[in-house]
Amino acid sequence: MLPIRILAIPTKVAETVRSTMRAPRYGFPAHAEAGSDAAPCRHCLRSIDPGKPGRILFTYDRFDGVEQLPQPGPVYIHAEPCLRYQEDGGFPEELRGSPRTLEAYASGRHLLAQEHVSDGKFEPVIEKLFARPEVDYIQVNSTTAGCFTFRIERGNRAEAREQKSA
Ligand SMILES: [Zn+2]
Repeated sequence: MLPIRILAIPTKVAETVRSTMRAPRYGFPAHAEAGSDAAPCRHCLRSIDPGKPGRILFTYDRFDGVEQLPQPGPVYIHAEPCLRYQEDGGFPEELRGSPRTLEAYASGRHLLAQEHVSDGKFEPVIEKLFARPEVDYIQVNSTTAGCFTFRIERGNRAEAREQKSA
């Protein structure tokens, strides 16, 4: 398996939402709720237990930090502070059991390929998508809800770019 980086939303975004209860950049009101189903927190990439007033819903641009043109959508984070998922932590085990869609993009938001994974075997699909040198990053979304979950980049961007231009 080639080295990959798992990119959860930045800690600054999570902290801003918790302190202001507004969506960064948009200013739309965020919403604290208990929830009746388990949803992944986009910051720690762990499951948020349903039934407790434990999650905040807010509007987030899934291309924030990587592209000029935004695509806002709803995401959840833990209402209480949590630790951002480690970038070198590999595919998040807590998300392996739910169907995810992997979208491979070239810079400029060009969607090159889309794969649905429902058997938990994400690594071979990630490897296959990154084998295409024109793929710059992969977005992982919920297949059933369509919401953005996290982004994956190659572990060594500099090396990847060199290979691309070689
Ligand atoms: Zn969390």
